[in-house]
Amino acid sequence: MCRSDLDALVAAAHERYRRARPRSAAAHERARQVLPGGNTRSVLHFEPFPFRVAEARGSRLTDIDGHSYIDFCGNYTAGLLGHDPEGVRRAIHRALESGWAVGATHPREVELAERICARFPNIDAVRFTNSGTEANLMAIGTALHHTGRTGVGVFDHGYHGGVLSFGDLDGPHNPLNVPHRFVVAPYDDETGLDALFADTDLGCVLIEAVQGSGGCRPATVEFLTELRRRCDDSGTLLILDEVMTSRLAPGGVQELYGLRADLTTLGKYLGGGMTFGAFGGRAEIMAHFDPGAGGSLTQAGTFNNNVVTMAAAVAALDRELTPERIAAVNALGDDLRAALVAVFEDSTLPLWITGLGSMNCIHSDEPRLSELLFHHLLDHGIYIARRGFLALSVEITEADVTTLVETVEEWTRTVAGR
Ligand SMILES: *Cc1c(COP(=O)(O)O)cnc(C)c1O
Repeated sequence: MCRSDLDALVAAAHERYRRARPRSAAAHERARQVLPGGNTRSVLHFEPFPFRVAEARGSRLTDIDGHSYIDFCGNYTAGLLGHDPEGVRRAIHRALESGWAVGATHPREVELAERICARFPNIDAVRFTNSGTEANLMAIGTALHHTGRTGVGVFDHGYHGGVLSFGDLDGPHNPLNVPHRFVVAPYDDETGLDALFADTDLGCVLIEAVQGSGGCRPATVEFLTELRRRCDDSGTLLILDEVMTSRLAPGGVQELYGLRADLTTLGKYLGGGMTFGAFGGRAEIMAHFDPGAGGSLTQAGTFNNNVVTMAAAVAALDRELTPERIAAVNALGDDLRAALVAVFEDSTLPLWITGLGSMNCIHSDEPRLSELLFHHLLDHGIYIARRGFLALSVEITEADVTTLVETVEEWTRTVAGR
């Protein structure tokens, strides 16, 4: 297939999409007048403009032009429970009955903290934030204070929030990153650890055991074990970013890998769909926030113990995120990946899929193919993230997965046959 073919196919896909969505097109133009780019979360943009959601129920989205989609984007893993889990809805309604704009402590933040400490093996004590980004910022600051050092080890393609985002090793620097002294090492590469730990002032290493936004790349147990050993040898704290990966097992990926983290960060789905983040870890480190134990750090945040979030997260943990449901959604994700591995192996197109459990990502070294696949799926009522990312929710069924796999397979045959 030649280049002009692909360009023409992409142009036709965009034209088809545009014609079918006049309301979303108009809404986009209106939005652009007051929101640069037409949105307030850049990842939600795609060409020619994103559809606007009118309703979100279970695993389905309906846009303002009346199209409905099976949601395989799953709010980039924050939507593990689907769009409107009943147990969370009831808990929020109950919480609202006793008032929600509270500038004082209340019992709900303790209930949530107890559940999180019980669930995650390496979290003795925890504090809440408003986002995963903030949780990582707090964890880094805490680790540097604890060690009295300045260096922060991170990995290529690591994503820990919009101000903690690392691309290719030699690629451009994100101008919005916070100004810590970052040392960037190659991900899942034991030999790269030599250079990282040659830094004698390394206070912490921040890592995802499976890179989520970085393309659903699982690290090997060997790499993570070696990283843990080097951290121990050098007195460097290991911060495990489990904002996404905690969905892979009831006690997070740390339970799955048997990995010991000094600090763990959480977010996304654990808030039951509400604004949420948390950082926690070894009692000795978290004690920096306890004035009664001689701690000198303070953690601010007007909405850290927001009543609605606390209630939603407790309900999510008690009623929705059962070990059985976690196991089922991850098994379904493994099935999905196995099926698409087979589809791509049978095809001559440069496409492949990586991931673990319910977190998966379709890759291509031809961006126009990814664009075509993305639009083909939209045409067929399936929404994935534009970058190929697929995050299952507990509302996705085996039949939904079959629909996705068959739609991709049929598309690979038509495109490859052109
Ligand atoms: C999404 C994400 C964050 C940032 O969380 P926000 O709530 O969006 O700020 C941090 N780390 C990882 C691994 C994430 O996937």
